Amino acid sequence: MLLQPIYMIKNFESLLDTNNIQIQSFTAEWTKNKNIELQILRLDLIHHIVSGNKWFKLKYYLADALRNSQPHIVTVGGAHSNHIVATAFACQALNIPCTGLIRGEEPLSISHTLVTAKKLGMHLQFISRTDFKNPEKILQNYSNAYFIPMGGFGKNGAKGASEILTHIPDAEIFSHIVCAVGTGTMMAGIINAAPKKTKVVGISVLKNNFSVMTETESLISQADINSKQYVIENGFHFNGYAKYTDALIKFMNTVFTENNLPTDFVYTAKVLYGIKHLALENYFPEGSKILMIHSGGLQGNLSLSASKLIYM
Ligand SMILES: *Cc1c(COP(=O)(O)O)cnc(C)c1O
Repeated sequence: MLLQPIYMIKNFESLLDTNNIQIQSFTAEWTKNKNIELQILRLDLIHHIVSGNKWFKLKYYLADALRNSQPHIVTVGGAHSNHIVATAFACQALNIPCTGLIRGEEPLSISHTLVTAKKLGMHLQFISRTDFKNPEKILQNYSNAYFIPMGGFGKNGAKGASEILTHIPDAEIFSHIVCAVGTGTMMAGIINAAPKKTKVVGISVLKNNFSVMTETESLISQADINSKQYVIENGFHFNGYAKYTDALIKFMNTVFTENNLPTDFVYTAKVLYGIKHLALENYFPEGSKILMIHSGGLQGNLSLSASKLIYM
């Protein structure tokens, strides 16, 4: 008998380590001084390639694509995109042909991320920045394919992301949940699923991304959520997407030494750095209990030179 798409997805999920997701206590001088409890939800432990939030955001898109008798997935991303490799891996496992439309000209040597995606069987097509912004024209060449928007942005992505909180036995104890914001899909899913008294704080990793709040709000599906329950902070992008400073790298190494917690420089390090600096400014009332979502993405650190991080 043919398996229904959702069971195929469940079968694949059973090969991932979603049961390994842990909640880790984080302590430092500043958590003690500010009387804050910080717990980290380690979604990075799911899988080394389909890591973190990417699994959650992909699952309902994959299920939809599998409803087609000859599924083919097309998606878009940059040269270091965690979404691209995660899609490549999942498509290989589910036996779905896939194409990645990659922003910019094909470089002489492609990134580690793209090498991995290619090895996993993803067909790569490099497209201009203009086409990347509006891929409709390119997509006409793939008229029978199932398209997943950049970063899994959309209702299906948010629906999957809302399942992240099913891995917390008692989400009600947290006064705040803090996560990274790229497209805002994960944050929207978390807002949809969060207890009403818990505030969701997003740390944007892009510079001048003025539309992200509206985009995130477009994915909020619960009618009884009011705008006091969430906020996006824009002060921790370190000058832009995938930009970093020596101070950020030093912070990542200290976090690893003191708490045995690996973070990535594109997303999760900026979130934790944001939490620390907001805490130092007394943003979180004393006694706050904060849950940080470690959304994965550690493979992105491979694009740093080898000597920078003590744990890569
Ligand atoms: C893609 C990604 C994000 C961003 O998620 P959005 O849903 O696009 O906001 C955050 N963290 C990590 C590690 C990611 O790979």
